[in-house]
Amino acid sequence: AEKILEVKNLKKYFHAGRNQVVKAVDDVTFDVYKGETLGLVGESGCGKSTIGRTLIRLYEATSGSVIFKNKNVHQLKGQELRMFNREMQMIFQDPYASLNPRMTVGDIIAEGLDIHGLAKSNKERRERVVELLKTVGLGEEHIDRFPHEFSGGQRQRIGIARALAVDPDFIIADEPISALDVSIQAQVVNLMKRLQREKGLTYLFIAHDLSMVKYISDRVGVMYLGQLVELAESQELYEHSLHPYTEALLSAVPIPDPNKEKRRERIILKGDVPSPINPPSGCRFRTRCPKAMDICAEVVPAWQEVRPQHWVACHLYQEEAKTE
Ligand code: SF4
Ligand code: MG
Repeated sequence: AEKILEVKNLKKYFHAGRNQVVKAVDDVTFDVYKGETLGLVGESGCGKSTIGRTLIRLYEATSGSVIFKNKNVHQLKGQELRMFNREMQMIFQDPYASLNPRMTVGDIIAEGLDIHGLAKSNKERRERVVELLKTVGLGEEHIDRFPHEFSGGQRQRIGIARALAVDPDFIIADEPISALDVSIQAQVVNLMKRLQREKGLTYLFIAHDLSMVKYISDRVGVMYLGQLVELAESQELYEHSLHPYTEALLSAVPIPDPNKEKRRERIILKGDVPSPINPPSGCRFRTRCPKAMDICAEVVPAWQEVRPQHWVACHLYQEEAKTE
C-alpha cells in the first residue's frame, strides 16, 4: 500500500511554567496508508489529540518530521501550504464548540470555499453547500439555520460537511463520536465509512475507547503517556496483542459474543498515569506494568516491528526482534 503520511520521531513539548516541560508527544513514529483508517487510542492526556493537531500544523513540531505526500508539512510555504490546508482537514469531538454560533450552517460549510476561492458565484456557492448538506444526509431547508437549532449528531454532520467542502483526502477525526448518544454514534461512523469509500478518504481516527475504534479502523495504534506502545492491523491487535498496556485496555472491552472470542481476564492497573512533566525512566509504563522487569527502569524499549506489520515498544519482545 502507498504511504500518504510518514511521521518520524515526532516530538511536541509544551512549556509549563518555570523550567517545566510537558512532553505531550515524545518520539512517535508511524505511517498512514492511502485510503485506510488508522485508529489512535489511549486515555485522555496521552497525547493523541496533540499528535492530530501537530500533523495538521495547528501546533509546530518540537522536533521530528511529518511527511505528507512526500513533502515535509512543517516546511510548506505559499501555494504548497495553501494546497495542504485543503488536503488535510480536521473534525472535532465537540461540533458545537467548533461551529461558530453566529454563522448560519450555509456560511459555516462555505467557509472553506470562500477561503480557497472555490466558488465562482453566489449561485455556485449555494449549490455546493446544498450538495454537501445532501452528502451528509441533511436537507436544503437547513441552510439558513444556526448551529443551536441542531442535535449533536446533526452538528457533527455539519462539521463533516465543512471539512469535505474543500475536497480533502486526509481527515483527522478527533473523538468525533465521543460526545454523541450511543444510538447516534453508529450513524456518524457509518456516514464516515460511506464517505471514505466514495471519496477515497484516509482517516486518522482518534478515540479513547478501543471498542469504538475496532469497528472503523484498519489498523490501530495504542498510546501511553506521549508515546506509541503498540500498532498493528485491527484483528491482529485484538487477537494477538503484545504490550501489557494494550492487554489491560482490551481486558476492559466488553465482548459481544463470548463463544467466538476467548474471554479475557480483567486486568486492573495499579496507580495513576504519571505526569508527562516527569515521566518514569526507561519504559514509561513500568510504574503500572504487571510484567515490569529490572531492565524496564534502565532502558527505553525500542519501537520495533516484531511480527509483520506489528509494532511494539516493550522489553518482553526485544529478543524476538533481534534473532530475526
Ligand atoms: Fe512492562 Fe517492561 Fe514491557 Fe514496559 S518494557 S511494558 S515495564 S514489560
Ligand atoms: Mg483529546
